[in-house]
Amino acid sequence: MAVPSSAVFDCIVLGAGIQGSFTAYHLAKNHKKTLLLEQFPLPHSRGSSHGQTRIIRRAYAEGFYTDMMEESYQLWAKLEKESGLKLYRKTGLVVIAPSGNEEFQTICKNMEERHLSWEPLTQEQFKQKCPGFVLKPGEVVCCEHDGGVLSADKALRAVQEQFQKMGGVIRDGEKVKHIKPGQVVTVTTTSGIFEAERLVITAGPWAQKVLSLLGLEVPLKTLRINVCYWKEKTPGTSGLLETFPTFLGVNLNGEEHEVYGLPSQEYPGLFKICFHGGNEADPEERELQDKPNQIEDIQILCRFISQYLPGLHPKPAVIEQCMYTSTPDCNFILDYHPLHKNIVIGSGFSGHGFKLSPLVGKILCDLSIGKQPSHDLKPFHIGRFKTPTMQRKEP
Ligand SMILES: Cc1cc2nc3c(=O)[nH]c(=O)nc-3n(C[C@H](O)[C@H](O)[C@H](O)COP(=O)(O)OP(=O)(O)OC[C@H]3O[C@@H](n4cnc5c(N)ncnc54)[C@H](O)[C@@H]3O)c2cc1C
Repeated sequence: MAVPSSAVFDCIVLGAGIQGSFTAYHLAKNHKKTLLLEQFPLPHSRGSSHGQTRIIRRAYAEGFYTDMMEESYQLWAKLEKESGLKLYRKTGLVVIAPSGNEEFQTICKNMEERHLSWEPLTQEQFKQKCPGFVLKPGEVVCCEHDGGVLSADKALRAVQEQFQKMGGVIRDGEKVKHIKPGQVVTVTTTSGIFEAERLVITAGPWAQKVLSLLGLEVPLKTLRINVCYWKEKTPGTSGLLETFPTFLGVNLNGEEHEVYGLPSQEYPGLFKICFHGGNEADPEERELQDKPNQIEDIQILCRFISQYLPGLHPKPAVIEQCMYTSTPDCNFILDYHPLHKNIVIGSGFSGHGFKLSPLVGKILCDLSIGKQPSHDLKPFHIGRFKTPTMQRKEP
């Protein structure tokens, strides 16, 4: 829909990644005249929401995420119905950890207490399920049966299309340069000036840059993630194509971090296996600068592949780039701007926000329009960062 370069809306959403797009979708469902602004021409691969796949799971050590996933699964199903697209593939999710691992035990306890569909697996049972996976003595396994894979690019397109069908307006290739808070918020982009009663900021890795326009500093780190795909040593012979699990490896090989993997989807015959972390990088300068074999997280993955998946070539066949925006405790920020109650912030999704995005969008919408959110937002308050880096200044 053509919109003049100056117009008044009920709400403006800044950033058309998965979180902003779902926020705009829920605002439109609530009959709010909504503008979704995006700095790059859509679709783009500069932020955090691009790529074909994301893991969906309830298996979390933090019970509040497990609880939130219930509603999130329902909202994913609703989007599938509205769009006529299959966005969720149920594969089961396997969690693997060293014996006695606390995080693993808490994940199992959370699933047990909530009567979720899951089971512990003996090494023998896991070996029958996934014969190409070699575990170390004493390592423990469980399977959450509803875990699986979301089709990320398709989902992003679907939610934006539904938003537009409800009358929502998207303007892409239009960077927000200035925000003037007040009873009516004025947003100036590279090609227009827009006014709205409310603003929601979902700027992904650019959040700190955007929040600084409003005098707010939060301890966010932006990390460059190397998304690695691996091929079989001899194509078609390892049996992995048929049996490769969606998995989460917790503290395996004495590493602090997690490793996760998904069955082949993007590239026929290649498996996505990644390190849950990366090096700090500015989102504007995130290109792969080092030689892949000198990057520490890729070295960790190479060691993991040679020990746990010996049927795969221990060097990545394809490396793509993506960004995490992480908070110190890896929990999200879902809150009002401390000084401006008609500005809501959704940020710090710390590399695990996709699965929850339909619910995050609903929560950000509810905060914005003054509805009571369906979940306790204490873990997500911006005020939990009592560090000197958080300053609240009047702009
Ligand atoms: C490699 C990788 C794997 C992941 N795996 C999983 C997984 O398995 N499961 C899971 O649940 N989650 C996963 N995640 C996390 C999930 O993808 C992110 O939490 C989610 O995509 C964050 O979305 P976002 O909308 O906050 O950010 P983004 O997608 O980055 O969107 C922010 C948007 O704001 C725009 N913007 C910024 N500044 C401006 C401005 N000034 N003007 C206009 N527009 C602006 C940006 O261009 C961008 O499009 C993964 C992330 C990565 C990188």
